[in-house]
This record gives sequence, C-alpha cells and structure tokens, in this order.
Amino acid sequence: MRMHQATCLMVGLSLAGGLTAQNLTQQNVERAQTIISNAVEAYGGAERLNAMNSLIIRNETTAIASGQSRNPGPPFDRNTNAGLDAIDFENSIFVNQARGNGGGFEFDNATIINGEQSYQLNFRAGSAAPIAQPDFNTSSGPFIRVTPALLVKQLQARAQTAHYLGDADVDGNSHEVVAFSMEVGPAISLYFDKQTHMLNKSERVFPGFGLIEYRFYDYTTIEGIPFNGRFDLFVNGDSNLERKTTGTQVNVDISSLTELPSNLNQVAAIEPDPLSLQELADGVYLVGGTGTYAMFIEMDDYVIAVGGTAGIPDRISELRNVLPDKPIRYGVLTHHHNDHILGVPVYAGEGATVIASSAHAEVVRNNAGDGNELKLETVEQRKVLEDGSRRVEIIDIGPTAHSEHLLVTYLPEEGILFEADHFAMPAAGPVPPAVSSTRSFAEAVARLNLRVSTFVSAHSPKPGTPEDLQTALSKPVAAASNR
Ligand SMILES: [Zn+2]
Repeated sequence: MRMHQATCLMVGLSLAGGLTAQNLTQQNVERAQTIISNAVEAYGGAERLNAMNSLIIRNETTAIASGQSRNPGPPFDRNTNAGLDAIDFENSIFVNQARGNGGGFEFDNATIINGEQSYQLNFRAGSAAPIAQPDFNTSSGPFIRVTPALLVKQLQARAQTAHYLGDADVDGNSHEVVAFSMEVGPAISLYFDKQTHMLNKSERVFPGFGLIEYRFYDYTTIEGIPFNGRFDLFVNGDSNLERKTTGTQVNVDISSLTELPSNLNQVAAIEPDPLSLQELADGVYLVGGTGTYAMFIEMDDYVIAVGGTAGIPDRISELRNVLPDKPIRYGVLTHHHNDHILGVPVYAGEGATVIASSAHAEVVRNNAGDGNELKLETVEQRKVLEDGSRRVEIIDIGPTAHSEHLLVTYLPEEGILFEADHFAMPAAGPVPPAVSSTRSFAEAVARLNLRVSTFVSAHSPKPGTPEDLQTALSKPVAAASNR
C-alpha cells in the first residue's frame, strides 16, 4: 500500500513537471514583484517612498464595543477618542497619543518609543513610567498596518517575503492579493485594485482568535503620496473600529513629541510580572501574572474559583502546588466581557458549575464549547455558598459605569472582595485618580454596606485597601495633555 502510493506520487510529480513550462513558485514570486512595482508607482514611486522618513497622522476614532459593552447584546456601545501616531524610521522613534473614554474609563495616555528615553505617559495621573525594554517594530506595527502608504513602503523593503495569493473581488472591482511578513506578527494579505493599484483592503489571521480585516477609503495625495482619509476595522466580520484622519504631515521633525512634559512625575518602571501565587488569607489565594489574576477559595470539601480571564489553566496548575486534591466545584464569572469569559470551557472541563449573572447566561453558554452540557447557576442579586468554616457571597453590584450587571465575590469574615475592571491598583507607583467605573464601584460597595479591608482585582497583582480607594476618589485629575 505504502509503495503503491509512493509510485503514484512520483508519476504525478513528473507529469506536472512535464506540463508546466515554469516552476509555480517562480511564477508566483514574479507575479508578486509586478504587483509590488505597480503599487510602488501608484504610491508616488520608489524615490518618494524611500525619502519619506517621518510621518505624523492625527485621528478621530470610534470604537464599536462588541463584547465590551455594558450589555451583552446589540446595539453595542460606541466610544470615541482622538489621538496621533508619529514615526521616524531613521531614528527608530515612534509616538502614540490617545485621549478619550469608554467602558467607564477616561484616559489620556501616550507611548514614546525612543531608545533609552522610552516612556509610558499617563496625563490624568500626571505620571511617566520608563519602558524597560522598548521595541520599535512591535510598537509601530499597528500604525504601519493601518497606513497603506507605510505598508507599501514596508512591502517594497520586504519584497523577498511576498507571495501572490490570487485575484479577488472587493466592492465589485477586481483586486490582486499579495501576502508578506512584517518583522512581527502573522503574515498580512494586501488587496490591490487591478486598475488603480491602490490598497483597499488587508487581512490577517490569528489562529484560535480569527480574522482581522481593514478597509481603506478616501485617498488624497499629500507630498506626492496617496494617504487614506479613513479606515474601518472588522473582527471576524463584525465592525470593531472606525477611524478618520484629521491631519497628515510628511517629513516633519517629530522630536518635540518625544519630550517628557515637565508637569509629569517619573514613577517606577514597568517590570515583567511572571505567574505567581499569594495567600490573601488562610485558604484564599490570588494567582496570576501579566495583567490577569484569579482568586481561589478553599472550602471544607472543594474549591471556588473566581474570575474567568486569560490563563485560567496555568492558574489552576499553580494552585495545585498548594492545594493538590480538592476539586474545583464552582467557577464564578464577574461579567460577560470577552476577556472575562475565557475560563468558561476550562471550568466546564474541571467538572465545575459555572456561576454567572442571569443576564449573562446566554453569552456564557455560547462560550462553553458545548453549551447544553454546561452546568450553570445564575445569580439574580445575591447567592451564598457556605459550609462549616466559611461564608462566600456572590453579589450583583450593577449597574455600574462599566457593566449593567457585575458579580463581585465577597468574603464577609475575611473582608476580602474580588472584582473586575473597576478598581485595579497599579503594580508599582501611586494610585491614579478614579475613573467613572471606580466611582460607581465605590458607590455600590457603600450602598450595599460591604465591609471590605482588601480589594482584589482581576487585573492587578496588588490588593488595595479602603484607604487606597479613598485616595483614588479624592485625587484630582492632573492637567490634561496639551495637544
Ligand atoms: Zn469588562
């Protein structure tokens, strides 16, 4: 059998060789080079693209918060922000600024990538945190991917990685599709109009996550190079973001954007945060790293897991070092947002019952793998899990500025409360001024008369105290960024 297949394969190969005048790979690469040459011409020519060293683009952006709205279903919340991106290729400088609000968060931030002088700025908090390991390619990649003129400049420089994928229709016009690889991330497919050679669409696939698609519109020519006036982003076919350009400057000095504003205080550098376990109270553990944390509560005969963010399997493994045997009987979810329901199939796989707000039951079932098999208990206002040694209350404190319904897990004896997305202590440095979601969280804790000594967040390795919460609430917002 094996021999027979091998023989057929060899015959097949020799037949194909005889019928094809030229090697398929060679044809493909040559076709890609032709498409790239046409695109380079359409974008002002090789000389102009090579000479474009710096670029500043200002934008206004609307984010469509599917999976991140206050309610699980449409219509989804729309959040607006304004910002800019600036790049200087010769000096490997990249600056991003964004100011806006969404999901109960107000923000006014900047990232400066400039070698040793790289910083994360938070204008609301009045702080500047050094970036220990700045990476120009990783930081500037998102800007390049939404700027066709820069994509063509990259494509020209990395033409040796390009392949022709085929022809495809976009809005009734025939396009030629070329894929190439940037320094970082999965390959990107570029759709060039066969007539105009303009880039109208791009795509990338993230295994396990899905399809990211950009559409580019409204070209205008600046300094001889066409720039898109706006773009739309789709995630797995759903509208996710709409951005329009409000200003474009080619080959201007961007060094003023790298200067540290004098009204900001330098705070501790952003350090790596590997997976770790800490015991908050006897039998109560906070396990996590790199921005996501779960709490585990030991009962007489079982364990309650709290939180559903990324990396729950690793966090369970870490817990097994201190609690090797007790089964996880419950997995408590805070809310329906897409980064807080990743634990559902993991808890189901552990044989645990998932506990969620009744308003989020459908989203939770849809993310369970096999939703019909999922053991799910819902909470209307409050659910109590109790045995001889401990009392655990799961309370819907909604509505908040972040979510219509939000479950917190409260241990009245220990004074511990676990929440997500409302009050996260910074890993280092001072407590920043409260955002809207923090304010509505504090109001709910007071209204429900919860006596908390330790606030635990799904997004911080550092628990907070009532004094920390008070500091956040009373701290004034520092001067806004001046731009
Ligand atoms: Zn959330």
